[in-house]
Amino acid sequence: MRVKIKSHVIKPLLDKEYPTVSHGRGVYLYDTEGKAYIDGCSGAITANIGHGVQSVIDAMKEQAQKVSFTYRSQFTSDAAEELATKLASWAPGDLDYVFFVNSGSEATETAMKIAIQYWQEQGRTGKNKILSRWMSYHGITLGALSMSGHILRRKRFIPLLEEFPSVEPPYCYRCPFGSTYPSCDLLCANQLEQAIHRIGADNIAAFIAEPIIGASAGAVTPPPYYYQRIKEICERYEILFIADEVMTGNGRTGKPFGIDHWGVVPDLMALGKGMSAGYTPMAATIASKRIIDVIAAGSKSIMSGHTFSANPQSAAVSLAVMKYIEDHRLIGKVEERGQQLIAGLQALMQKYEIIGDVRGKGLLCGMEFVKDRTTKEPFPFHLRVTERLIEKAMNNGLLIYSASGGIDGQAGDAILVAPPFVITEEEINELLFILDRSLGELA
Ligand code: PLP
Repeated sequence: MRVKIKSHVIKPLLDKEYPTVSHGRGVYLYDTEGKAYIDGCSGAITANIGHGVQSVIDAMKEQAQKVSFTYRSQFTSDAAEELATKLASWAPGDLDYVFFVNSGSEATETAMKIAIQYWQEQGRTGKNKILSRWMSYHGITLGALSMSGHILRRKRFIPLLEEFPSVEPPYCYRCPFGSTYPSCDLLCANQLEQAIHRIGADNIAAFIAEPIIGASAGAVTPPPYYYQRIKEICERYEILFIADEVMTGNGRTGKPFGIDHWGVVPDLMALGKGMSAGYTPMAATIASKRIIDVIAAGSKSIMSGHTFSANPQSAAVSLAVMKYIEDHRLIGKVEERGQQLIAGLQALMQKYEIIGDVRGKGLLCGMEFVKDRTTKEPFPFHLRVTERLIEKAMNNGLLIYSASGGIDGQAGDAILVAPPFVITEEEINELLFILDRSLGELA
């Protein structure tokens, strides 16, 4: 049957009608029919400070009145310089140097390229593979997708993908090794060492991981000491560690960066999403001094970059977003509101048998659905809860995010609940009330 396509915009589903947004204020979005939606997932875990923040709009206007675009090989700008300094001050350890890009996919690909270049500059040209985990998501462009273990998004492009993830995820709810923490002794982290032995440390540039797994599985949080072990292994075999903080960065988990919960300093970090809180496209790769020193002493130039990299307009916006987070002490609020949210989600788990697990940190919370809570058997693909719940919630005026990376018969029937940092106690109660009602309607 032919599908009637109603507009020239190619949307995620060609046969679906989407509401037209009118405007946003705080944690609410409004469509042109006047319906309000509570933004329970900050769009795509992006609108971290909510909608319509005046200081960001003012910064945008002020910069536009000066200049919006200059090209990175011709000019720098006060906005880009100040933003890089601020990011370096938020970032752990010696992560001091910032390469600006426009999306999370570009940020992870740039990290991958810098890692390879770092070894090349030292004559170690064989070190060019990037290891990664299954059940991960690092972006949709081919380099980023190669590193991603998001089966649904990879599926169509397998012939074009260079690498395959080689390590199991730290997924305690369904341990890939059938074990339990802490008696498992972090088998999932130790598996990285086995992969290194198999592939050869001389062939590997870096290992990349999302500190908390987001889009593939719904806030899967590794156990304590997991990243300490990962970092130890990476150092032992001279392999760089890239933290993909595109979703977990810039305060989302109640600390400046997700990896800070483990107290580990990565060699490279990829940022995006909340960096500009969605006010303009902006992303970045942050590199440690040690890496940039090597490149500065060698070719002096990172072989990457995009037309819009470091454009003053997006830099001014991101700087205003970071200042807003600092001025309103929002990272502390994330921690506080996160506790309220997770407690509310756990209460829903008591009420609904289909909720198998609730997890996350700060305002990055996940919920996984199961057909049978005791056996953890997932629903078959066509009966998955995620899509049905998202639709019910949207009808009821709540936005939640799909985090379903699996395919038929696999785990991954999960959602993310990740509202803006400015959400109030009452607004969280409202979010939970609508979620409860939407879950109730599924039966
Ligand atoms: N890395 C992570 C951890 C992500 O969650 C995402 C997007 O969801 C990306 C990378 C890709 O970012 P973008 O969609 O901005 O290209």
